[in-house]
Amino acid sequence: MRKQWKQIAEDIRGIHGANDFLPLHEPTFSETEVEYVSDCLRTGWVSSVGKYVDEFERRLAEYTGVRRAIAVVNGTAALHIALKVAGVQANEEVLMPALTFIATANAISYVQAIPHFIDVSEETLGIDPKKLEEHIREIGIIDKGQLINKVTGRVIRAVVPMHTFGHAVDLDPLIDICERYGLVLVEDAAESLGSYYKGKHTGGFGLVGALSFNGNKIMTTGGGGAILTNDEKLADYAKHITTTAKIPHRWEYRHDEIGYNYRMPNINAAIGCAQLEKMNHFIESKRLLTTRYQQLFKKIEGVQLLIEPSFGKSNYWLQTLLIDENTHARDSILDILNGEGVMARPIWTPLDQLTPYADCPKADLSVTNLLNNRVINIPSTPLQGEYHG
Ligand SMILES: *Cc1c(COP(=O)(O)O)cnc(C)c1O
Repeated sequence: MRKQWKQIAEDIRGIHGANDFLPLHEPTFSETEVEYVSDCLRTGWVSSVGKYVDEFERRLAEYTGVRRAIAVVNGTAALHIALKVAGVQANEEVLMPALTFIATANAISYVQAIPHFIDVSEETLGIDPKKLEEHIREIGIIDKGQLINKVTGRVIRAVVPMHTFGHAVDLDPLIDICERYGLVLVEDAAESLGSYYKGKHTGGFGLVGALSFNGNKIMTTGGGGAILTNDEKLADYAKHITTTAKIPHRWEYRHDEIGYNYRMPNINAAIGCAQLEKMNHFIESKRLLTTRYQQLFKKIEGVQLLIEPSFGKSNYWLQTLLIDENTHARDSILDILNGEGVMARPIWTPLDQLTPYADCPKADLSVTNLLNNRVINIPSTPLQGEYHG
């Protein structure tokens, strides 16, 4: 087994043409980023006002096909405000996958709501609509048009699916469940810029969605995020409360509620404008990498490369291996690959196993728990030397 995975490490290196340490995901920059950032520095527009923020928001809306985008400081802040403008209230429950980055649950906590964990599907690694419906039938009752958790007595307000590693979840049945049970759909699209469900960009299916441009995502603004919505009123409100809820005036400081200083600085938006111009290249390059990895792993027994679902087109942000635990031991693979300088990571610890979320309501999480020992991410940076933009 050690010999086999040492060879795989070497083959992965070969695919990337790498001689030294191979990270999981590195940002790719060119002269355009330097040019736009220099423009900010030269003109002095580096902070909370400037043309790049407006331009980035306009281009994001255009790229995603969602009517409005509001640029903010990070993806977690975007999710926080998405939940707030979607009307999620204190002491309400929000249904979400147990297998996601902790930010999804943290954002729910920031509006004083309670995460309620649902199992995921093996096909998408995202929330499983069938198991969601079964669970709602088991624990829910409708009272005065609202879904109530009869175990806790709390209102269940929303569902927050997450498109894991850039693979869209099956949204149609989720939308159907939301309609039938009066739930609000808020999409955590932090990992799925450039991913589509049945031809439509992810993040625009719910009432509100959230994107992240952290340094490890498919494109980056250094740190950053965006709120997406097709609802103009919600978009205006999200813009208002992410910019300290200040009423526009030539000199007066008047604020009509407790707002947030979540606005993306101009300098970050400048990087974002340049990165967005490369998105098609990033996706093409990542899909090419998938093809190369497929060739490599089709020869390896008990290892399967995760491929986009039939109903979606994935950005393939992080390349993902599904290992058969009877053939391979996750931690030995991680030990060997990382030891060889080929960075590899397991999927997140299921959130119900973490101290801050141990007491949250949850459904049967059998697939989540199995996947926890089976999923490994391998180096996913767009292939070097194949871009000259
Ligand atoms: C990255 C990420 C976030 C948060 O984004 P930040 O910009 O790091 O705050 C939220 N949810 C998921 C699933 C993510 O992967």
